[in-house]
Amino acid sequence: MLNSPVLTLNSGMIPIDICNVKDAVILQLLNKAEAIKVDKTLTIHSQYLSIPLPRVIMLFNFHKIPRKRVVYSRLNIIYRDDMRCQYCGKRFSMDELTVDHIIPLSKWDVVSPYKKPENPNSWENQVCACKICNARKGSKLLEECRFTLIKKPVEPKYMPYLVISRYNADKYGWIEFLNYNVRIVEAIN
Ligand SMILES: [Zn+2]
Repeated sequence: MLNSPVLTLNSGMIPIDICNVKDAVILQLLNKAEAIKVDKTLTIHSQYLSIPLPRVIMLFNFHKIPRKRVVYSRLNIIYRDDMRCQYCGKRFSMDELTVDHIIPLSKWDVVSPYKKPENPNSWENQVCACKICNARKGSKLLEECRFTLIKKPVEPKYMPYLVISRYNADKYGWIEFLNYNVRIVEAIN
């Protein structure tokens, strides 16, 4: 229960982060935040206090919207590439997209270190690809299948928005607090 996610709003009620219940309670006890939405059916008990479980908190005296470093994940590779297949250049819906290793794992060791990034599972070696292109490419190198990338893949500098799964937004009652800087996604994996 202490690890359940809690939506964190800045002082202007803009969602800026997701913390967990433990952090949210500490912030409240330090008088740095207040609970905006609680789950009244669940209570946190300790020797000295008993408070309802927070689902949404608002920070006092914090008006900024911090730019977050982008977490390396399958979903964020798809977002970096704007849901566009980096081989054929067309845009697709999430369920038609995959993430492809440019240099396949099976060929990683045969490619010279000078011609590859440091790590096969990285921003530089993974791109968003439609299922058709991914199947065509298979475990070939770019030059073997005559594919070219529409742009060079790099690590994105920052995330201008908060990514929240619809599942969590529904389960924890966050929908009414979500704002222009939130992207709701159907699934995060
Ligand atoms: Zn494609």
